[in-house]
Amino acid sequence: MPGWYGARVATGDSGAGGAGASDSGAGDAGAYARTERSTTRRLAARGNYDRQVVHAILDEALVAHLAVTTDSGPRVLPIMHTRLGEVVYVHGSVANRTLREASGQPVCLAVTLLDALVLARSAFHHSMNYRSVVVYGTAGVVVDPDEKRSALDAIVERSAPGRAAEARPPTEAEMRSTLVLSIPLVEVSAKVRTGGPIDDEADMSWPVWAGIIPLQLVAGDPVAEPS
Ligand SMILES: Cc1cc2nc3c(=O)[nH]c(=O)nc-3n(C[C@H](O)[C@H](O)[C@H](O)COP(=O)(O)OP(=O)(O)OC[C@H]3O[C@@H](n4cnc5c(N)ncnc54)[C@H](O)[C@@H]3O)c2cc1C
Repeated sequence: MPGWYGARVATGDSGAGGAGASDSGAGDAGAYARTERSTTRRLAARGNYDRQVVHAILDEALVAHLAVTTDSGPRVLPIMHTRLGEVVYVHGSVANRTLREASGQPVCLAVTLLDALVLARSAFHHSMNYRSVVVYGTAGVVVDPDEKRSALDAIVERSAPGRAAEARPPTEAEMRSTLVLSIPLVEVSAKVRTGGPIDDEADMSWPVWAGIIPLQLVAGDPVAEPS
């Protein structure tokens, strides 16, 4: 996770420093401007609006959850995503009901990286260490062929760098059968929890193990397809 660690901002459990240099919310070059709905309120010090931090989380996460308002109520679906500059892209079949319903509509996209289980002395203070991003925006249909192709290449590249150049390129028919949506990175927040459990002083002598259990997503050995 080199990209993330390079950009990591201290967000200790003391709550200090979570918003780091981006705390102004004024939309300086390195930070996303906070809005009414993108401002973290609960444990607000864990909120982070730094572009590098947001980008690193989006780039490391392989799965996003896309929330859409539909005629039959709210819907959240897991989906692959990719980021190019200040745009997040998702794709699917033109027959994908959720993507069609999202087209041109306000959506919310969230990604989560789980870093540890946090076992406190009290049941109440059990938690998780995480890095997450929430994006609000309007999902636009990508019609420009170059942008569409770049987004699809970038999605393939998430499997393995260089893969888009090696794999057979999409045909015109495959391009037509694929819907790509773009969500601009404008109204964005990250939230990060690090550190150990935060127990109450009165619980510190409770006779139970406390600490964190780190979690990692690790690639296994490749298994080649028979040729
Ligand atoms: C893996 C994981 C597990 C979690 N488990 C729990 C749980 O069990 N119970 C619980 O109460 N909370 C949990 N959280 C935290 C949860 O995501 C919310 O931050 C928290 O519940 C506060 O909710 P709220 O509606 O009061 O947020 P508010 O602070 O009111 O949210 C305001 C704005 O802050 C931003 N924001 C809030 N949370 C996040 C976030 N996680 N990532 C990025 N931006 C954010 C959004 O833009 C949001 O619109 C978990 C988070 C993660 C990543």
